[in-house]
Amino acid sequence: MSLAPSQSPANAPQDPSVLNWTNRLTQLGPRFFTHLQPSPVAAPRWAACNEALRTELGWPAQIFDEEHLQALAGNALMRGSQPLATVYSGHQFGQWAGQLGDGRAIWLGEAQSSQGPQEIQLKGAGRTPYSRGGDGRAVLRSSIREYLCSEAMHGLGIPTTRALSLVASPEPVRRETLETAAIVARVAPSFLRFGHFEHFAAQGDTESLRLLADHALLHHLPECQERAERWQGNLYAALLDVVQERTARLIAQWQAVGFCHGVMNTDNMSLLGLTIDYGPFQFMDGFDPAHICNHSDHQGRYAYGRQPNVAYWNLYCLGQALSPLIDDQDMTLQVLEGYKSLFPRAMGDAMRAKLGLVGDWAPESDREADWTLVEDLMQLMAAEKVDFTLFWRQLSQAVVQKSTASTLTDAGWSLVTDLVLDRPRLLAWLARYTTRAGQPNFAAMGQHMVKTNPKFVLRNHLAEVAIRQAQTGDFSEIDTLYNLLKSPFEEHPGFEAYADLPPDWAGQLEISCSS
Ligand code: AMP
Ligand code: MG
Repeated sequence: MSLAPSQSPANAPQDPSVLNWTNRLTQLGPRFFTHLQPSPVAAPRWAACNEALRTELGWPAQIFDEEHLQALAGNALMRGSQPLATVYSGHQFGQWAGQLGDGRAIWLGEAQSSQGPQEIQLKGAGRTPYSRGGDGRAVLRSSIREYLCSEAMHGLGIPTTRALSLVASPEPVRRETLETAAIVARVAPSFLRFGHFEHFAAQGDTESLRLLADHALLHHLPECQERAERWQGNLYAALLDVVQERTARLIAQWQAVGFCHGVMNTDNMSLLGLTIDYGPFQFMDGFDPAHICNHSDHQGRYAYGRQPNVAYWNLYCLGQALSPLIDDQDMTLQVLEGYKSLFPRAMGDAMRAKLGLVGDWAPESDREADWTLVEDLMQLMAAEKVDFTLFWRQLSQAVVQKSTASTLTDAGWSLVTDLVLDRPRLLAWLARYTTRAGQPNFAAMGQHMVKTNPKFVLRNHLAEVAIRQAQTGDFSEIDTLYNLLKSPFEEHPGFEAYADLPPDWAGQLEISCSS
């Protein structure tokens, strides 16, 4: 099935399908999407194949053979696939941006898997009616970042779209400089975004809005049926409530690992509460609530510390979009109010867990006092921009060590006190923490903490090393990082350097929207 690069996939021989397609989205009809073919790329080559995801989904090994390389490059079609691009709109940087849509992500279809039906998209597979002047391509640099970060997030237990494969092509793509193309095959139960709903609401097309909401209720968020009991049987209020809850939990998880998304526009917000659209994201190195990872975000709208409020703002847009269906303004506002208590709860739980305060050690009665403990530590870390990931990991290890120490000396905290300049301030905090937790509990708490505070995250400089190597045709560093990041809580002896502080040059890296 090897194809000449210029051959249209429409005329390509179709392979015997290894996937069993359902394609429920296509039943929505043409108002929601445009059928089209991916554009072929020259000389595709595997840069990465995600065996773990393939196995998890129960998909056959053939999906990574030479024939399917062509399919996952967009050069051929798998039988049963019905490629299309969907239309959506959205708010970008706080402004209504009008119609956007899948400008370079082509939906191949929905396939059965052992984890339920999964949609597959090829990101960077060519122009669509929604490309708005863009070239429909993605560069290797940003595709490596998306591939690795999807799997890093999954390894951390954070909901995300997944990445099945990364295909590289020598085909030139112009950004600030001339780069080369790549295609990520990404997988999720649904790629629906807040922006899909905003699109039909803005057009006053309530019929389409209802069709879309019903599709989501039936196929993707069945828990809304039960949730509707809280909202006088109003299924659309339940939909907003469930999305709100998922979003609150997601953002709490982001904050707890120091993840900055970078472009939290409403078109980059998943209806299922998944992390989606990896662009200028960053796992913070030094802790700074005002940290801006997107070089193009001059106002800092999407700074780390603002993400929880931005998520609320985005949910408000979704609420407005769904209001013709909910048909009860007070109820819509009441659902949205929920975020104001749900997010702090989720955040409190996540930060307590980082301190090992879970289960019996985390009674409701201590919630407020624990939050003060967390805030005081965060202020201390922010004052010195202490490395976020390293600090929490070393704190976990210090707690493990302390559990077997016969005497509680200050020196026993050196793993963390060595990371700060103001030792007395940290020692005073550690004394409060020890009193709160109780040293006899340290053994069990420490065990929990090393499974909560990762050793490895996809720091910018780690991705950069993999990118520079890949640009010379060597994809091995992608594999090395993938193996560390898919189990980030394990020690991985021999790979300590990957858990180290960033080198000086990392501070010079500028990541922008250009991808
Ligand atoms: P993003 O900021 O990556 O979420 O993209 C915002 C919008 O621009 C979406 O509609 C994308 O599909 C579209 N877009 C981004 N890059 C390209 C590109 N190279 N070609 C076509 N459309 C693009
Ligand atoms: Mg996007």
